[in-house]
Amino acid sequence: MTDLLSLTPRAARAVLGEWVAARGEPAYRVHQIVPRLWQRPLGSWDGATEIPTALRRDLAAAFPLLRLTLGARQESRDGTEKFLWKLADGEAVESVLIPEGKRRTLCISSQVGCALGCVFCATGRMGFRRNLTAGEIGAQVRELMLLDPAKRPTNVVFMGMGEPLLNWPAVDTALTILNDVDGLGIGARHITVSTVGILPSLEQLARRPEQFRLALSLHAPTPSLRHALMPIEKKYRLPDVIDALQRLRRRVTLEYVLIGRKNDALEQADELAEVARPLAALVNLLPLHPGGAPDLAPSPPAQMLAFARRLRSRGVEAVLRKSRGLDISAACGQLRVELEAPRRGGGGKVRPQEHAGVE
Ligand code: SAH
Ligand code: SF4
Repeated sequence: MTDLLSLTPRAARAVLGEWVAARGEPAYRVHQIVPRLWQRPLGSWDGATEIPTALRRDLAAAFPLLRLTLGARQESRDGTEKFLWKLADGEAVESVLIPEGKRRTLCISSQVGCALGCVFCATGRMGFRRNLTAGEIGAQVRELMLLDPAKRPTNVVFMGMGEPLLNWPAVDTALTILNDVDGLGIGARHITVSTVGILPSLEQLARRPEQFRLALSLHAPTPSLRHALMPIEKKYRLPDVIDALQRLRRRVTLEYVLIGRKNDALEQADELAEVARPLAALVNLLPLHPGGAPDLAPSPPAQMLAFARRLRSRGVEAVLRKSRGLDISAACGQLRVELEAPRRGGGGKVRPQEHAGVE
C-alpha cells in the first residue's frame, strides 16, 4: 500500500499513471484521481462519484487515504481555534487556526514533541516522540478543509509542535504539497518555516527556488545567553547560524520571545540590533506564554514597549506581537497535547490580543 498523500503531487501522478496503465484503464483517470488528494479532498474514495465504482474500490485497497481524527477542538473567545489530531498510531499533534481579517493562518506541527528542550517551550517539555510524515503534515490542512471548506487557510506557519528542520525530508515534500498548484496551492510567500537554525537542512531549504519565508527563533543576542535558553546552541552556534543566514541572501524574520529579566534589557536590545541590522531582518517580539515555562516570567508590557522602541531607534524594524488564544493555550510554541484533565481557569477573563506569529 502506498500513501499517496506523503508523495509530491507529481510523484503521486507517476505512481497512479503506472497503476492505471497496468489495469488497462484510460490515462485520463489519473486526472480524475489526483485532484481528490489535495485540491478537492475527499475523506474516502467512496465519495469520488466521477470514478466508476469498481475502480474506487480498488483505489481504496491500493491507496487508502490517510486520515487524522479530530480528538478535540477548542475555540478561543478571540476566534483562534485549536485542533487536536489523533494519528493512526495513537500519537497526537495540534494545529491552531488564527483568523485575522481576510487572512486565516494555520500553525502546523512537524513532529510529535520536540527533542530540543528550549527552556520556555511547552512542546520541548514533552520531549521527542516521532517525526510526522509529509502526509501527516499536509493532512493538518486537508482535514481542516474536510471539516469546513470555509476554514481553508490562506497562510501556513511551521510554528506548531516540533522542529521542522530536524524532519527535513518530510518537510521538504510537505512544502511542495502545500505550494504546488496540484497540491494545496498556497503561495510560497504565505508559507513560513520557523527554525532554531539546523544548518544542514537550512542550506537545503535555501536551495529551493520557491520564496518560502524563513523565521529564525533567536531569543538571545549572544551565544552565552542563547545557550542558557536553547540547548541547540551547543551544536549550531549563533555566529555560524548568522553566517549561514547572511550567505542565504534571503530576508529573514527573527523571533524573539521576551522573558522578564532574562533577555529583555535595553542593552540586549542594542545587541539584538547589531545582529538584526546586517541581516536587514524584521524582528518579531513575542510575549512569553507562561504555559511553556512556569518558572519564567513574561516581560512586563512597559518593558516590551521600551525594548521595541530601542530596536527601532537602532534602525531595526520590530513588531511587538500580542498573544491570541490564551484561554485555550493555543498560541504557537505553546502547544502540548493535553488529553487528560480539563484545563483550569477556563472561566478567566481573556483580553482580545493579536497573534504571536509571522505576517
Ligand atoms: N521549533 C521551531 C518551530 C516551532 S516553535 C522553532 O523553535 O522555531 C514556534 C515558535 O514559538 C518559536 O519561535 C518558539 O520560540 C515560540 N515559542 C515557544 N515557546 C513559547 C512560549 N512559551 N511563549 C511564546 N513563544 C514560544
Ligand atoms: Fe522545539 Fe521550537 Fe519548542 Fe525549541 S521552541 S523546544 S525548537 S518546538
